[in-house]
Amino acid sequence: MSFIKQISDYDWETIKSFIYNKTAKDVENALGKQRPTVDDFMAMISPAAEPYLEQMAILSRKYTLQRYGNTIQFYVPLYLTNSCVNYCVYCGFNKNNDIKRIILTEEQIMQEVKAIKQMGDFQHILLVTGENSRGAGVDYIENVIRLIKPYFSSISIEVQPLKEKEYKQLTNAGLNAVYCYQETYNKTRYKIYHPKGIKSKFDWRLDGFDRMGKAGIHKIGLGVLIGLEDWRTDVTMMAFHLQYLQKTYWQTKYSISFPRIRPHKGEGFGPNVIMTDKELAQIIFAYRIFNHDIEIALSTREDVMFRDNMLTLGITSLSAGSKTSPGGYAVYRNKLEQFSVNDSRSPTDVAQVVKEKGYEVVWKDWDLSLQ
Ligand code: SF4
Repeated sequence: MSFIKQISDYDWETIKSFIYNKTAKDVENALGKQRPTVDDFMAMISPAAEPYLEQMAILSRKYTLQRYGNTIQFYVPLYLTNSCVNYCVYCGFNKNNDIKRIILTEEQIMQEVKAIKQMGDFQHILLVTGENSRGAGVDYIENVIRLIKPYFSSISIEVQPLKEKEYKQLTNAGLNAVYCYQETYNKTRYKIYHPKGIKSKFDWRLDGFDRMGKAGIHKIGLGVLIGLEDWRTDVTMMAFHLQYLQKTYWQTKYSISFPRIRPHKGEGFGPNVIMTDKELAQIIFAYRIFNHDIEIALSTREDVMFRDNMLTLGITSLSAGSKTSPGGYAVYRNKLEQFSVNDSRSPTDVAQVVKEKGYEVVWKDWDLSLQ
């Protein structure tokens, strides 16, 4: 079983035209349902839903409070390497870019961990790598998980898609969650953004989610990169994917996010599509109304005002104090970043804003703290 077979039933242009033909009546129908379908989801993210944003925000807030209470989970990324065999046109770690390549040693990783712990009481850490199976493959990642396990209650990864047995290997070492971005579900245009390297293989990447499910990963995170293709069609394809995964691997928890392309080193790739703050809010509300249980994360790619405004309206997870380069916290002090962050406040400052809004910061992984 794999989503690769199912995705061939969803023609990109047909889905797009469904979305753009939705009417105000379709939106009202969708908002009146307790459990909207993907067809209803299309109505909620369509241009026809723009006048209903306030009503959507109220519903999104209500469902988030019912499921998560007034809490926000904090996590911090730790970049282990910027070495990468891929050529993604939108990324500062693209193999073509003439930058210093680093793979952190055990000693350097512990320096980073110490600096992270000095910033805040983080218990949930996200390990990030470029894709370099030779230099930073599964054994390297396993070793890092074992090394830092005593200091964190929840360890997630955002690395190259792995084999099923490799996901199992990392789970046995203490891995809790895997985040992977398909970037775009438009298979025809995928290769334009991922011209060479293992990441150019659309099916291998897409099938990775099934491999995670089969390996029994506790939580799987999905996402599309906003700025490549029509975002309404991409997030709908992701809704189909999410629905398939939840049905097939029902014991797994799920998380989503919608990173927007940020400035980075290398030859300029400007976004093909610009998504406004209002539109990003619309997707977040629509996803929450569509799926009451899903974790929705917002990273420091987004600016202070947007993050603060969205705190109580649907998101459940925030990164804070993030450095997007290997050694960024202590060893190299953010000289080699993947992209520039938009919210550079300290975790303490962000936590203060969360408190002022009447919410509580959860430093460890939400799902794990419920077990
Ligand atoms: S997005 Fe990931 S895979 Fe692509 S070049 Fe950047 S680090 Fe490598």
